[in-house]
Amino acid sequence: FSRLERQDPEVAQLLLDEVARLRGGLQLIAGENFTSPAVMAALGSTLTNKYAEGYPGHRYYGGCEVVDQAERLAIDRAKKLFRADHANVQPHTGASANFAAYAALLRPGDTVLAMALSHGGHLTHGSKVNFSGRWFDVVAYGVRRDNELIDYDEVRDLALMHRPKMIICGAATYSRLIDYAAFRGIADETGAWLLVDAAHTIGLMAGEAVPSAVPYADVVTFTTHKTLRGPRGGAILCTAELAARIDRAVFPFSQSGPLMHSVAAKAVAFGEALRPEFRTYAAAVVENAAAFAEAVATEGLRPVSGGTDTHLVLLDVRGAGVTGAEAEGRCEEAAITLNRNAIPYDPEPPTITSGIRVGTACVTTQGMGPGEMKEIASAVVQAVCNPGAITSVIERVRALTATHPAYPGE
Ligand code: PLP
Repeated sequence: FSRLERQDPEVAQLLLDEVARLRGGLQLIAGENFTSPAVMAALGSTLTNKYAEGYPGHRYYGGCEVVDQAERLAIDRAKKLFRADHANVQPHTGASANFAAYAALLRPGDTVLAMALSHGGHLTHGSKVNFSGRWFDVVAYGVRRDNELIDYDEVRDLALMHRPKMIICGAATYSRLIDYAAFRGIADETGAWLLVDAAHTIGLMAGEAVPSAVPYADVVTFTTHKTLRGPRGGAILCTAELAARIDRAVFPFSQSGPLMHSVAAKAVAFGEALRPEFRTYAAAVVENAAAFAEAVATEGLRPVSGGTDTHLVLLDVRGAGVTGAEAEGRCEEAAITLNRNAIPYDPEPPTITSGIRVGTACVTTQGMGPGEMKEIASAVVQAVCNPGAITSVIERVRALTATHPAYPGE
């Protein structure tokens, strides 16, 4: 860092400012986490220089003997961690992993059954502004209006009616457990592939805090930077039968040179997730989200579906007489970073919304527990419902971050 400071003080200052921002407030964005210094050491390494198109042992460049070992380590650790037949660790992001999964299993124009974006699905699950909605015929399922849970009867009816080539489950804002066995049954009954996009919950699966999707899915795609706490990136797990198709769909179909520094950092993160401490972490993330949901409900904001089984809580803020955008802005003023989010059957447009989404991955990495979650819930409710209390909320936030700093000792 001192070299960067000497050479480029402008960028160095931005890196310091970002650490100060992280330390100065509560980071509650559900898809973020604080990756370890060891992961960042791999990311900031000379492996960033290496071209390595291809796969270990079959590269289109010389000098790959070291990065081959890094990629093999990442693959072997991912397979062990998730008890998967095959792993591809090259996708640059979660979206690239999904692109490759579509490419491996489908042809343009094929029918896909996926969760509606407005009910918790992801852009890559069929939004019209994304390749998935542009090149595929996407039928959407959602959650029930009464309990805000996935309607498995609707999923089955739609699958029988439309005969999709692929069914996707896994979401960006669904806080409850997904019944992978039910999805497997529907996929088998209708002759569809089952893709589980576990971007959000993969770290919880790694730490066995939620059931694994691997035994049920043909393909599991995921991001390595959310609950898994690794570098920003994507990865794919699949059955032995699909291994060659998935590998070809990543390289050469949709990517060329892999980011070998990121692949090495994924190996580090998988190694961390294989340790017993990670089980404790994953369990704490879920316990914290449950404590937050319970406390926030007591304080008067409604968690969608009544609560959570995972790391995230989606809150309906209409009871406070504000929109999601207003709630997000008020929290930001109070040094609480989170995002506005559509709730199921949201009357507001996606840029405004009626909800906010909260995740506990970062604050759990900071060592906070259920007691702190109660305090955070109360601070969030105060910030959202009572703009006059901003100064006192900031003080409460500062007290929490002072006792549980991000990146202590760094
Ligand atoms: N899938 C789901 C369910 C996600 O929530 C996300 C990211 O938020 C992605 C895929 C895409 O990941 P990335 O931003 O790395 O492309």
